[in-house]
Amino acid sequence: MGTHSDNAVRPVLLTGNGGIDRCSGRRLDEVWLAAAWSHPTTRVFVVSGGQALVEGKPDGRTELVMTPSFDAPLTEAHRYFLGEDADGVRYFALQKDSLPGRMDDTARPAGLREAAALLDERDQELLVHAVALENWQRMHRFCSRCGERTVIAAAGHIRRCPACGAEHYPRTDPAVIMLVTDAEDRALLGRQVHWPPGRWSTLAGFVEPGESIEEAVVREVAEEAGIPVTGVEYQASQPWPFPSSLMLGFFCRTAGSPEPHIDGDEIEQARWFSREELRAAIESGEILPPYRISIASHLLELWYGKPLPTAVRDPG
Ligand SMILES: [Zn+2]
Repeated sequence: MGTHSDNAVRPVLLTGNGGIDRCSGRRLDEVWLAAAWSHPTTRVFVVSGGQALVEGKPDGRTELVMTPSFDAPLTEAHRYFLGEDADGVRYFALQKDSLPGRMDDTARPAGLREAAALLDERDQELLVHAVALENWQRMHRFCSRCGERTVIAAAGHIRRCPACGAEHYPRTDPAVIMLVTDAEDRALLGRQVHWPPGRWSTLAGFVEPGESIEEAVVREVAEEAGIPVTGVEYQASQPWPFPSSLMLGFFCRTAGSPEPHIDGDEIEQARWFSREELRAAIESGEILPPYRISIASHLLELWYGKPLPTAVRDPG
């Protein structure tokens, strides 16, 4: 996905490389959806509070626990249609208040952060879609125009207001995340105030109303580190439904090697790292790099030129 294709950087996790056709044109076709739901090859999984059941296979893979629809827990309303794979198998997620129990003990609940590192691309794609819809559904039960309770429609992709007729669509909040380099090609990393001890990552922030994403990159780096940047260059994106972000990843540059001036509110430390300094800091356990599933890790690896060294004691 990045522009640097001559290295062995891992793909961005949670992005839609899983071969699922969302079939968005089918979401209003109730007859088609009903037939898809009851088809014997259709597969269903339950999503609840951002979690789904996963299970390890004898060959070492981990998969979402899915059942045919006739085996699925009963719910008419909170049935999200997620799409169809190349073999014509259709997938639905059921939103429930809790995950179903299982007779055997091979299955266990996993959230998206954990599951993303375990599941194959198809299951990642299905789960991130389901979790994003669940988060949006849960937080948009009332009409933002008139305050009335809304109802689910379009197989989970619309909420309609019966009082005023408004249609509400899933919301995605764009956020920018950027790797800043200086004149010596060192990378700027920072520490947010609320992060666990030792964790460092790239700077990031939300795009504000009436702002372009390039402007957001420049503003966030200035606010958080006091550094002027230019050359904002898009690299890759990642859905990040915690609860509803879309991370837009960039490289950008600053002239010279200005000393960071942190804001102290969001960022408590920021400093430049050469590749050698970063390697040494990670290997010694002085710092923990960004979580491996995050796009920050991807951006950092693009700059580093290869996978980052393994931290001595990284729980993530
Ligand atoms: Zn309304």
